[in-house]
Amino acid sequence: MKKKATITVETERLLVVSHSRGSVEHWCEQCGTKVLMIGLTEAAAITGLTERAIFRLTEAGAIHLMETTEGKSLFCVDSILAHTGPGARQLARAQIQNRQNRKDES
Ligand SMILES: [Zn+2]
Repeated sequence: MKKKATITVETERLLVVSHSRGSVEHWCEQCGTKVLMIGLTEAAAITGLTERAIFRLTEAGAIHLMETTEGKSLFCVDSILAHTGPGARQLARAQIQNRQNRKDES
């Protein structure tokens, strides 16, 4: 029961991220696929890490970083979730699937 409550919180967090203006679907060179990219603030929010810790993981190659033409840093959600546990990763996949389903309906 305790685990279920945690998952609910994670889902809400991911939904907040996906609805924020900072998130965008973009090609990730390292993943070799299109992923959800989010800003530094969002990356810190879903991992519970500090922004400095996010950059350390990026420098270590654990989190994939992409810079926009405006010079804004965007982080690959897939790589972030790979470092926040398998449960979070599953939720992200479900969440991305939901986005695709919504697109099909419209
Ligand atoms: Zn990636």
